[in-house]
Amino acid sequence: MQLLIGPIVGLLLLGVGFGIVERFWPSIRGQRRLRRGWRTDLAWFAWQPTLGKLLSGVVVFVAIMSLGALVMSPIPTDELRGVSPRETWVTGLPLVAQVGGILLLGDFLGYWQHRAFHTVGTLWKFHSIHHSSTDLDWLSSVRVHPINDIASNVVVALPLLFLGFSPVAFAAYVPVLTLYGVMLHANVSWTFGPLRQVIASPTYHRWHHTSEVQGLNKNYAGLFPWIDRLHGTLYLPKGVQPMQFGVAGEAIPTGFFGQMKYPFRGAGSSSEPAEAASARA
Ligand SMILES: [Zn+2]
Repeated sequence: MQLLIGPIVGLLLLGVGFGIVERFWPSIRGQRRLRRGWRTDLAWFAWQPTLGKLLSGVVVFVAIMSLGALVMSPIPTDELRGVSPRETWVTGLPLVAQVGGILLLGDFLGYWQHRAFHTVGTLWKFHSIHHSSTDLDWLSSVRVHPINDIASNVVVALPLLFLGFSPVAFAAYVPVLTLYGVMLHANVSWTFGPLRQVIASPTYHRWHHTSEVQGLNKNYAGLFPWIDRLHGTLYLPKGVQPMQFGVAGEAIPTGFFGQMKYPFRGAGSSSEPAEAASARA
């Protein structure tokens, strides 16, 4: 029970905060607070900061240690143990520059891992869980399969740590980015006006979640829409909000345990990657 106190307090704080902004700046007006899938998302909300975090932390730590041993060099996490960290050109940078570097490089790496999750069939089965919400709001952000979570963390964190970015800079970046990610799913119509193609907004990310064909396989970046623009995958029409969400053409279970198991099902179930589906559409 003690394990759940943090998540319960977090749920209340986030629920009140996002409840207010979703009330005053709704993207879809009239969407119910207890919308479709809220029970499933509550289960995901309990999972993510507890067992999910433990599982992800262990796997990511083992991955970093294994790679460190493999390349026979001291690893960046030595800093946490009071051992001199490996010196690279990055380690000499001030902390603020390292945070900036992590944001920029992390978003480039994040763009490509996210795109891979949409275009490789096996990966899509794991990522499809995140896209299965048919009513999207801030709570939908927690619906992430652990394999998706672990793989995306490893793909982004490993290269950055081995370049020499400080784990302290990471520690500053992760909670901020997590909260920002929750905001991106909220049922709000913010676009950030003149910065709409510079910094990710809820409207930008909600277009990523749409099941409307014009928005499929667009807006992969987590923070910087201009990365999508560079790659030709930006979709952000002025004055229009996406209205339909979810995964078309796939029967994804609606319950927590069914969603956990879904990606491991045999080839009998549909596992068509979204880009292949949209290419035909
Ligand atoms: Zn996605």
